[in-house]
Amino acid sequence: MIKFLDLHKINERFRDEIDLRIKKVIDSGWYILGEENKIFENNFAKFCAVKHCIGVANGLDALNLIIKAYGFGMGDEIIVPANTYIATILAVTENGCKPVLVEPDINTYNINPDLIEEKITENTKAIIVVHLYGQAVQMDKIYKIAKKYNLKIIEDAAQAHGSIYKNKRTGNLGDVAGFSFYPGKNLGCMGDGGCVTTNDDELASKIRALANYGSDRKYHHIYKGVNSRLDEIQAAILDVKLQFLDADNQRRREIAKYYRENIKNPKIILPQTHDELSHVWHIFAIRTKKREELQKHLEKLKIQTNIHYPTPPHKQEAYKEWENISLPVTEEIHKTILSIPISPVLTGEEVKKVVEAVNDF
Ligand SMILES: *Cc1c(COP(=O)(O)O)cnc(C)c1O
Repeated sequence: MIKFLDLHKINERFRDEIDLRIKKVIDSGWYILGEENKIFENNFAKFCAVKHCIGVANGLDALNLIIKAYGFGMGDEIIVPANTYIATILAVTENGCKPVLVEPDINTYNINPDLIEEKITENTKAIIVVHLYGQAVQMDKIYKIAKKYNLKIIEDAAQAHGSIYKNKRTGNLGDVAGFSFYPGKNLGCMGDGGCVTTNDDELASKIRALANYGSDRKYHHIYKGVNSRLDEIQAAILDVKLQFLDADNQRRREIAKYYRENIKNPKIILPQTHDELSHVWHIFAIRTKKREELQKHLEKLKIQTNIHYPTPPHKQEAYKEWENISLPVTEEIHKTILSIPISPVLTGEEVKKVVEAVNDF
């Protein structure tokens, strides 16, 4: 059986070091907002080359807190990609803002920068870019639009830890970014976790306070905050795994390269990328009109696959208000996309088997 993602095998490689660091936390008697958080926040900020990293409870909270800290709410509009995981859009509606959906580029699956400007109104406050499947968004046109209309750029970097666009990593490509450390992400912990990265001093201290009951010091509350903190055990695990993130992403790139060079089947459309470093291949998504048949064919050969995602946000029951809107590019992607296994622990033999199985279809 070739698993879609073998989390146990991924984490087992660092088991000794993780065990030691967890033991250290347990022995310290200090479990929230302590040394491990500080160490990891510093190291992740350094990794992204930003001034601030604030550990939070999960990726959705990271995005929620960013929007809350900017004070965006009722009556404000935020541009979001229509083709994303629902969390991006939930963060917008959770704050009472209106998400304005923009179709993706069919080649990159990321937001199509040429379709943003026509959606801007006097109420637009920000653009959320999602580096979907691990590929950094081509930012240049978006920088120009944000400057022209004075909009904030918020990155949803939940799938793209370490991707590079023009010598800068995600997390440092906009005004502020939200990351998730959900176990299956390229940098994942063993529970829930997330963080915010930014170079904005004021925004950073506001988010830090908001995430801790709106408190800037103990029992002193300057905002109506929430409780969203990264715990010490998760921070310790993340700090161990961060050391291996670049190497793991490089292994993913090798596998992606092998897939792209060796999958030769006219029924299948392979993912594209502009340059090698811009993609960390969180997901290797292929497209085919015969998705269900391909999935069954691979299942028979004991190769697990997944669909990211079967139903776009605007077709979800949660967003009934969008029932009648039509987003043909997004819908086409959701109908034809299939994710095949990619992870730093896949063996060369497994990768070869996947290629053979896909070519045999
Ligand atoms: C995983 C993910 C999130 C949410 O992260 P959680 O930690 O699960 O809250 C947000 N956006 C995208 C694009 C994601 O893939």
